[in-house]
Amino acid sequence: MQPVSNIYPLLNQPKNVVITFHQKPDADAMGSALGLYHFLKQLGHTTTVISPTNWAVFLSWMPGCKKVLDYEMQTAKATETLNKAEWLFCLDFNTMDRTRKMSEILTGLPCTKILLDHHQQPQVEVFDYGISDVTKSSTSEMVYDLIIASGHADKINQNVAECLYAGVMTDTGSFRFTSTSASVHKMVAGLKETGLEHSHIHEELFDNFLESRFRFFGHVLLNRLEVFYEYNTALIVIPQIDLIKFNVKTGDTEGLVNFPLSIHGIKLAAIIIDRGDERKSSFRSKDGFDVNTFARKYFNGGGHFNAAGGKNSEPLEEVVRKFKAAIKENKEQLSSYQF
Ligand code: 5GP
Ligand code: MN
Repeated sequence: MQPVSNIYPLLNQPKNVVITFHQKPDADAMGSALGLYHFLKQLGHTTTVISPTNWAVFLSWMPGCKKVLDYEMQTAKATETLNKAEWLFCLDFNTMDRTRKMSEILTGLPCTKILLDHHQQPQVEVFDYGISDVTKSSTSEMVYDLIIASGHADKINQNVAECLYAGVMTDTGSFRFTSTSASVHKMVAGLKETGLEHSHIHEELFDNFLESRFRFFGHVLLNRLEVFYEYNTALIVIPQIDLIKFNVKTGDTEGLVNFPLSIHGIKLAAIIIDRGDERKSSFRSKDGFDVNTFARKYFNGGGHFNAAGGKNSEPLEEVVRKFKAAIKENKEQLSSYQF
């Protein structure tokens, strides 16, 4: 993989460009992609954003979101666009299997592939150019860096600014996580200087849910949460029946895993959701417990040191059993705290 700076001189030659990201995109995946989309359009590129799956409705306010193709729903159109692509930008994921059904076609495309990502252990051999930097707060910050470093600061218009702000704000936990560097604050200052109105973005992302989602949260925190004090661990297990009963939609479970992490003394918070086709897990940690390694070792996943996820094909009970065995195996790293 050559450094991404090697593409800067080529940015002024219009091309057919596709931008994609991981399945069930979060605000960083969608925001970084649409920020890049609005930037590349100004340079004359024919650019399409393709999502491997659907996405949460609370992302639909983002400028350009209505033009994003859903690969699962619009497979023929997306495939035709992919086959014409000269450049493929892969944003906010480290391995092709994070794009689900799109993975095979992406891997086989003859076009130039460019990675911009901040997850651990990327599959660098698949990409021609790129940057993988785990110290970066978000992929949106990396797109911002690319725009500035390639000498195009003047292209940061309102559309670019809103999309990139949404990504950096959410991936830093509203500027709370340790990844919130001085560069992040400088970036936000730069976006504000272009006239960015940030408060409506927080409202769109956080104050935009149906009552049923909060009833679901209440039910889950009361009935589906188990705390293992001896392992400083909290686990939420959600059977499929809950998703049906509370009409849970894509994105509705986002943030749920953070609640148990705020219990005094908890180092590891986990959520395992039975989505029917697979068991999806999310892990969050504090105080030096590495959930990237944990998710890789037991749950076919990965991510960051303090936020990772995985997926399993086994039945829910089996995945829960696996989790309980895994925390026992990691007792030494988890049990340092006395309640
Ligand atoms: P979340 O728990 O919010 O789904 O994801 C947390 C972090 O872990 C994100 O950065 C996400 O990209 C990563 N992640 C989530 N699920 C998986 C997975 O199945 N495989 C890998 N490699 N990373 C994942
Ligand atoms: Mn991200």
